[in-house]
Amino acid sequence: CGIVGIVGKREVGTLLVDALKRLEYRGYDSAGIATINNGELGRRRAEGKLVNLETRLADEPLAGTVGIGHTRWATHGAPTERNAHPHFCHGVAVVHNGIIENFAVLRAELTAKGAEFHSQTDTEVVAQLLAAYRSEGLAAREAMHKALSRLEGAYALAVLFEDQPDMILGARSGPPLAVGHGEGEMFLGSDAIALAPFTDKITYLDDGDWAVVTRESLEIYDHSGALVERQSQISRGTA
Ligand code: GLU
Repeated sequence: CGIVGIVGKREVGTLLVDALKRLEYRGYDSAGIATINNGELGRRRAEGKLVNLETRLADEPLAGTVGIGHTRWATHGAPTERNAHPHFCHGVAVVHNGIIENFAVLRAELTAKGAEFHSQTDTEVVAQLLAAYRSEGLAAREAMHKALSRLEGAYALAVLFEDQPDMILGARSGPPLAVGHGEGEMFLGSDAIALAPFTDKITYLDDGDWAVVTRESLEIYDHSGALVERQSQISRGTA
């Protein structure tokens, strides 16, 4: 299972799938990508191998220079297209590796407030929480910080907000997450191997960190919400 993200200067649909192929060695049962194009989220998902997602994309291409991708190893909910990531909720798109241990409590709480769930996954609570906080008026960063403070379990996350089409948010607690620095474009991935075709300059998030990634900038916050510095490094021998 794996996560990728690109805030790019070129079309990212096939680049996302190519990066996911470099994470195939981790195993997975389904896959999907989402992009923002002309201010609108779009996605394609497919059961099974990445070749099925490629077929889907050949039939119905997905335009956009900003996007996230995911290979899923199902833990909660069958490996169907409906349960495949990215999960959408009111302008929020989420991909997740790991397990949200308290998803049942969060799902009950959100459902009581009127949320309608579209999958059987633990992951969907993250999209629903973020959407709920945005609808209460919180900005993207505030919503992210507040949502993360509610999550128990292990996660690597990448998030798109439809109304913030030039950025990707990432977070990790448990599984690793790497940010790759390009020239006027930035990348997110489960490991440096996924990003090797794009860049060898990598910043790893520390455990509990979350990040705001744009074409030109990387801000990293720790679990308390404090802006922190993490050193970048040159990753060798993975291309
Ligand atoms: N727990 C999530 C799910 O079942 C993510 C699984 C994964 O790590 O791919 O959808």
